[in-house]
Amino acid sequence: MTVKPMLILSRGEIADSDSLLRQRSEPVRTGDDISGIIQDLRDTFYDCEIALGLAAIQIGYPKRIFILNLNKSDRSGEKVFINPELIEWDEQMEAVNEVCMSIPNLVGSVYRPTKVTINYSDETGQSQSERVLGFKARVVQHEMDHLDGVLYTDRMERLSDLEEIEFFFKENYPLQATKHTPK
Ligand SMILES: [Zn+2]
Repeated sequence: MTVKPMLILSRGEIADSDSLLRQRSEPVRTGDDISGIIQDLRDTFYDCEIALGLAAIQIGYPKRIFILNLNKSDRSGEKVFINPELIEWDEQMEAVNEVCMSIPNLVGSVYRPTKVTINYSDETGQSQSERVLGFKARVVQHEMDHLDGVLYTDRMERLSDLEEIEFFFKENYPLQATKHTPK
């Protein structure tokens, strides 16, 4: 079990283009051994109680992989998405507050489509297609943005609308987090 340090940016560093978090992740190719990355992603994800999704880049692996589980008390709801692609999205958009494990203690409202369809490979290498709705669609889009080096704050109309919250506590968030990690 390896819980990795989370890459984080402070409010003043969000626009910092030098961060690994701003890098576009590489596709996983046939034959790549990603089992170690997925294990570290899973270990770090469950160690960080408040995370509902986590992208590999957030723990330092620039690969197009993310994990999601909206009800972490039940592991059967967990899913690993490899090389996800947005195939279809609804015209209907909704603004909802988002937080990010890589931008601690901040919250901001972001418009996103309420329904999307994604294609991806699962952990066994099988191609999958899934239509996701509502809050799950939002988390999926948030995690997919990480794979392109995009943060939710980039989708806000004004960065000045970011608000500070006391949401990330030692008990539920591993603040062994790494500050600035250059590419
Ligand atoms: Zn995030």
